[in-house]
Amino acid sequence: MLGHKDILKMGNPILRKIAQPFSEDEIKSNETKILVERMWKIMEEAGGIGLAAPQIAISKQLAVIRLDESSDRYPGIDSSPEYVMFNPRIQHLTEDTQGHWEGCLSIPGLRGYVERPNKISVDFTDQNLESKNLILDGFLATVFQHEIDHLKGKLYVDLISNKELLLYEEEFIKLNENK
Ligand code: ZN
Repeated sequence: MLGHKDILKMGNPILRKIAQPFSEDEIKSNETKILVERMWKIMEEAGGIGLAAPQIAISKQLAVIRLDESSDRYPGIDSSPEYVMFNPRIQHLTEDTQGHWEGCLSIPGLRGYVERPNKISVDFTDQNLESKNLILDGFLATVFQHEIDHLKGKLYVDLISNKELLLYEEEFIKLNENK
């Protein structure tokens, strides 16, 4: 059984591959249901708010997201529903960007300040094979972009041009305490 120690870390080539889409039959399969359950469990164990299948060595277009207001890693965020998304497609609805401090279970111990478009539209298939469309802004829009990037072989550190905005978590915590 996979646990949070099995989350791949930056440097593993699977994290840099473009993930393959799911077929309808695959989404319906028992194997996929088990995979989704496993992803929730691994994400929870690791204290994350999102997890993409490539992070557990499955190069397929699946990610789960759940923001939790009691998160230790992301204090001050609002809780969100649970999202299970297969084959997501993203559209930026604005050129305006917002910056958030991001972390990644595949890049443990670091935080980076990333600017991303602040309003997006996401289309995906959910676990019941329903087509969904979400219009998102704020931190949730950042989290969706972060997870969908994993399916394209991209990591948040790719988006940080100013390396002064890439910190060790302990320094990040100090910075917040001094605010
Ligand atoms: Zn990540």
